[in-house]
Parts: sequence; C-alpha cells; structure tokens
Amino acid sequence: MDFSLSTEQEILRESVRSFAEKEIKPVAAELDEKEAFSYDTMRKMAELGLFGIFVSEQYGGQAMDYISYIIAVEEIARIDGSHAATVAAENSLGIGPLYYFGNEDQKKKYLPKLCSGETLWGFGLTEANAGSDAANSKTNAVLDGNEWVINGSKIFITNAATDITAGVTVLCRTGTREDGRPELSCILVESGTPGFTAREMHGKMMWRASNTSELYFEDCRVPEENLLGPRGSGFHQMMQTLDGGRLSIGAMGLGGAQGCLDMALRYCNEREQFGRPIATFQTNAFKMADMAMEIECARLLLYKACWLRDNDRPFSKEAAMAKLYCSEVMYRCANHSVQLHGGYGLMKEYDVERFYRDQKLLEIGEGTSEVQRIVISRYIGARCL
Ligand SMILES: Cc1cc2nc3c(=O)[nH]c(=O)nc-3n(C[C@H](O)[C@H](O)[C@H](O)COP(=O)(O)OP(=O)(O)OC[C@H]3O[C@@H](n4cnc5c(N)ncnc54)[C@H](O)[C@@H]3O)c2cc1C
Repeated sequence: MDFSLSTEQEILRESVRSFAEKEIKPVAAELDEKEAFSYDTMRKMAELGLFGIFVSEQYGGQAMDYISYIIAVEEIARIDGSHAATVAAENSLGIGPLYYFGNEDQKKKYLPKLCSGETLWGFGLTEANAGSDAANSKTNAVLDGNEWVINGSKIFITNAATDITAGVTVLCRTGTREDGRPELSCILVESGTPGFTAREMHGKMMWRASNTSELYFEDCRVPEENLLGPRGSGFHQMMQTLDGGRLSIGAMGLGGAQGCLDMALRYCNEREQFGRPIATFQTNAFKMADMAMEIECARLLLYKACWLRDNDRPFSKEAAMAKLYCSEVMYRCANHSVQLHGGYGLMKEYDVERFYRDQKLLEIGEGTSEVQRIVISRYIGARCL
C-alpha cells in the first residue's frame, strides 16, 4: 500500500492552503455576516484554477485526478464553508453532469467558461415536496414540436442565482414508463430563458456567503437538444452525480474538522486559567487527541473512496460512508472546539462560531445522514426500506 500523495497533489495542497489563508480568511466572517456571495474571491479562486479540476484539458479543465479536487475542497473548507460550497457545488454538481453526460456540442458550449470560472452552473434536483424522495419530482417537461416546455419549481439550488450563473441542469418528468413509474430526464436551462426565474434565498443559518436559490419554470421553452444524455436517464445521472458530490461534502467535513482542531490547538495553548495554558489540562488535551484521531480516520476513509473512483472501481458505498463519517466528525470537532473556546467560542469574532453553524448542512445536503445510512445498509445486505 502507498499512503503518500504525489508531488503534484502536495503542491496543490500547499498552494490552496496559502491562498485560503491569505485571500479567504480575512473576509470570511464579514461575508458571512452580510450574507454576501463574493465575486472578488470567486475570481481569485478561478485564477487559482479551482474550477474544472478533474476535467480534461480539451474542455478547459486542469486534467487532475479526483483526489486532487478533494484536497482543494478540503483546504478551502479548513478556512471557510461557504467558499468550499461554491467550489464543491460548481465542480461536482455544476460541471460534473455536463462533463460526464453531455454530448460534444454541450460540452464545447458550456465547459470552457465553467472551467475558467467565468460562469457558474446549478444542479436542480430538490423540490419543496421532493427532498430525500427526489424521484418524486413534479417539475414537468413536455415536448412541443422541437422544444421542451417546462413547468414547476426547485428549491435550495446552489450557485444558481449569481450574476455569472450561465444556467442549471433540471430534473424533469418527461413522461411515464411502461411500469407506471415516472420517466425522469435532465434538461439544461440557460439563465435568461423566458419563463425561468432564479430567486436568491436568504436567512440561512450556515454557508451564508454561498448562493442558494429557488427556481421557477412557467411555460419555459428550451430547444429539444438541451436534453442531457438519453431521455429517461435523468434520475440515474443525478444519483451518479451525487456519488461524486458526497465525496466533496466529505471533504468539507474533513477540512472543517481540521480547521476546528487547528483553532482549538491555537487557543488552548495560548489561553491560561489557573496559571497555566488550558491545553495542559488533560481533559482538554484528550479532547484534541480524540479530534486528531477521528480526523485521521476520516481522511483515510475519504481518500480511499477517491482512490476507488480514480481507479474506476465501484465507490458508491464508500462515498456514502465518507460523507456520513466526515460530516459527523466535523460535528463532533466543532462541538469540542467551541467548548474549548469557552464563552469566546460563542462570539462571532471567533471563527469557530461560524464553523459550528456551517457544519450542520453537511448532515443534510446531498442526502441526509439518515439517507446515507439507508444507502450503506442496502450495500451491506441489510434490506432497509
Ligand atoms: C444550503 C443548501 C444547499 C443545497 N444545494 C442543493 C443543490 O445545489 N441542488 C439540489 O438539488 N439540492 C440542494 N439542496 C437540497 C438538499 O439536498 C436537501 O435539503 C436534502 O436532500 C434533504 O431534503 P429535504 O430538505 O427536503 O428534507 P426531507 O427529505 O424532508 O427530510 C427531513 C427529515 O426526514 C428524514 N427522512 C426523510 N426520508 C427518510 C427515510 N426514508 N428514512 C429516514 N429518515 C428520512 C431526513 O433524513 C431528515 O432528517 C441544498 C440544501 C441546502 C440547505
């Protein structure tokens, strides 16, 4: 077995780490407070090459492996969840479906600007009444001549309502199968198409500087060729996309947990009570030892899942495990880290307060922890409904 990263992967980690420290850390708290998506840091992340990391060069990508992408997300998440969300959603949910399921024309049309970070793309799966039960989507698309006519709505869609969003991949009902189940297909809808509105959602507890929106389709007409892949393959495409997406949520959990430990170590070695640094009290040191151990386990599980993916082996079970485990490790690390900061950990001037809030999404987005346990149960042979 070889646990070492390649020189390229180590260089990438170093460059993303120093970028996040220098460019994101100083502005993260203010952006969170103002609930503002930053076009400035978006441009800088694009210049660093954080979009299209695993896409081949012919479409403008960096042609790196998936583990490199995951390391980049991990390092951004070590500093800020909102920026990590922008990068992760764009790569795995925005770019991913176009890259893996798009035809040559669609790839050439959209990927170069998405990979250069000039534009963003959303992934429209969730609806108000179809979250965990995503196959129950009601958004409807009917073929009228050579156009799809789309009606319905989506909710909680990341990166879909920015000034630079070029469009969104939308899961639609396009008919009924012979067995009576709905036929689901993915359709590409460009921003600015008449009948399509993206409305930004406000008031989030977490990821406050990431862009989240509701999408509305009212007799929205798009060309027939905007169908992504074969008709009826939409649900399969979305589930495959989520397998990759779950690795990015895992990376956010891992990076966030590491950030919580870094802050705890710094604080506990400086803060003195009873005449000595609080890190010297065994109960506090042991908390941090437990955090370090869990982070190490999380990293091994996540990287192994990425390795499986990079080597074209099945990785759905491991992706669900990594997503579930890494997000729960961050939950425990954020909780310990706030506890170790005492009252100061509850104040906004300490970044750990933001990490404590940002963590919660990881147990909910891209399949809740309960859904991950269902997925894992099925893979191990427990016939969970
Ligand atoms: C900030 C943010 C960004 C997001 N970005 C996107 C995006 O880009 N694209 C997108 O399509 N979606 C996105 N989502 C949606 C997200 O994926 C859903 O919120 C998530 O899948 C859960 O769906 P739900 O909120 O409807 O909860 P529900 O499905 O209503 O679940 C509520 C509770 O019931 C539990 N539950 C449901 N079914 C079962 C079951 N069978 N067994 C046991 N427990 C169950 C759940 O685990 C949960 O605890 C985003 C959400 C947020 C908050």
